[in-house]
Amino acid sequence: MSDTISLPFTAASFNRLLGEHRLMAARCTRCNALFLPPRSLCPTCRQESLAWVELSGRGALAAFTVIYVGPSAMIAEGYTRENPYVTGIVALDEGPQISARILGLDARNPDLSWIGTRLTVEYLDRGEGDQRRTFLAFRVV
Ligand SMILES: [Zn+2]
Repeated sequence: MSDTISLPFTAASFNRLLGEHRLMAARCTRCNALFLPPRSLCPTCRQESLAWVELSGRGALAAFTVIYVGPSAMIAEGYTRENPYVTGIVALDEGPQISARILGLDARNPDLSWIGTRLTVEYLDRGEGDQRRTFLAFRVV
């Protein structure tokens, strides 16, 4: 699953890899702890011996929020008070948790039974050329 990637363990690298539709974490090569977003130093080992590892992109919904008034980019996509969207914390199968858009749930009828819903990663490409950005999302399996 992993190959040698010579990028620093930063949020910028994480986003660049996301642009290649790869969900990557940093793994401490000593204690195997996983860091998402990546960090350049293992707080346990106090070592900079890290490696990029690709995650499965599978997990479960741990928490969620329905957003009625989003940032301008989301308003531009048509999300409003009448058409809200869901963001959440996804507990990945490999352990780390990450916040992301959640797709496939009816934001108009939020329900606590959503907790634990199985999800799989989806990459949302927005914009063109230099403005292109990839946003992390997860969709109900
Ligand atoms: Zn470590």
